[in-house]
Amino acid sequence: MANFVIVGAGECGARAAFALRDKGFDGTLTLIGSEPHLPYERPPLSKEALVAGAGPKFVAEPQRYVEAGIDLLLGRSVCGIDRAAKRVSLGDGTVVPYDKLLLATGARPRALPGTTYGGRIAALRSHDDAARIRAHLMDGSHIAILGGGFIGLELAASARKLGATVTLIEGQPRVLSRGIPAEIAEIVARRHAAEGVEILCGAKVARIEERPGEVRLTLEDGRVVAASLLVVGIGAVPNTELAEAAGLAIENGIAVDGMLRTSDPDIFAAGDCTSYPLSLYGGRRIRLESWRNAQEQGALAAANMLGGADIHAAVPWFWSDQYDMTLQIAGLADGAATTVRRDMGEGTFILFHLDAAGQLIAASGIGPGNAVARDIRLAEMLIAARIHPDPAELAAPETKLRKLLAA
Ligand code: FAD
Repeated sequence: MANFVIVGAGECGARAAFALRDKGFDGTLTLIGSEPHLPYERPPLSKEALVAGAGPKFVAEPQRYVEAGIDLLLGRSVCGIDRAAKRVSLGDGTVVPYDKLLLATGARPRALPGTTYGGRIAALRSHDDAARIRAHLMDGSHIAILGGGFIGLELAASARKLGATVTLIEGQPRVLSRGIPAEIAEIVARRHAAEGVEILCGAKVARIEERPGEVRLTLEDGRVVAASLLVVGIGAVPNTELAEAAGLAIENGIAVDGMLRTSDPDIFAAGDCTSYPLSLYGGRRIRLESWRNAQEQGALAAANMLGGADIHAAVPWFWSDQYDMTLQIAGLADGAATTVRRDMGEGTFILFHLDAAGQLIAASGIGPGNAVARDIRLAEMLIAARIHPDPAELAAPETKLRKLLAA
């Protein structure tokens, strides 16, 4: 009987395990995860979980793992892969053999040089991190956030909902400087300011000191921010060490081909830990930190572990919720030569990004609730179809995107 092993019991690993069973895999299936919890969703950690203090939102209830015959080893870390003997070893000395192995080890918060997370300095990646941060979010408390990316900004919105005072420090001249159009970042920053978040852009931290009852940041220009907690949100790094020690190719993540195979044909990798070539963008190698990508790649890796030859070709997609605003991004906008704005009223708009040849390569939208969801979904299909639309048609809100798709 075949043995399949998945390392990393997060979104991707759990989805892959269920997909293997759904596709008829009837061998032994082991899912190993370092965290003590059942696989859970991370997006709520900076949003409703923080505001409501709820427990982890599980990918599936415990009974479903039993019914699917998935052997869960939780709170256990894989510390080595013996590719010649085809087995993984755990920190406690247990050895698990595999015929096919999937690495879904995710990512971890980027370290702030000279600082360790703990005490009054935190990062946000796990449910336990969220619980620790939440304990500091209350009316009258003051938190400092370092980093104006999605996690820092979502955390700021949640902290304001709980009545905490927030100072957000960003080294770049604006928030959301990675891959998000300035027009959208500007709206996000203005909304945070209106909600009472103090945003300091272009600010560099010179010193961080933990003192009794507070953490104190001194900025290079001499300003001092004193808070009860500092949360650092300066990006994530892929967990590649296990793969690297096993001699697998690494390139900003565990390097896989379009079928999610690593440089060892019996080892696959998927999700946040992985970089892969995307044919839609000329085969450029990318690594995504996105919930839907983790799900899609988990399912695709499962199919290919069973002998399939499917290529991962999905248009990248990401969303972020802050207050009542939702921001959605489809595709990769960094190769854009032209941007076209489509106003849909009530503060809702989509920016369509076209490359120098006039091909639609990305769309970024913002609006209340689900206002941009349908059109971004259609934009995804238009991007996948590699259309070269008339910019004036895209800009006109009366043009039905579905019509462009049909054309
Ligand atoms: P992970 O979820 O990181 O899971 C990997 C698991 O592997 C971890 O549990 C880790 O402990 C375990 N592991 C690592 N090494 C080992 C080992 N050696 N042995 C055993 N286990 C190991 N995406 C969006 O699209 N929209 C959002 O709004 C959004 N919000 C987010 C908010 C927060 C606070 C965070 C942290 C992420 C958010 N994301 C969002 C990103 C999304 O959650 C991730 O892209 C997704 O969780 C990636 O899934 P994964 O399974 O690849 O990795």
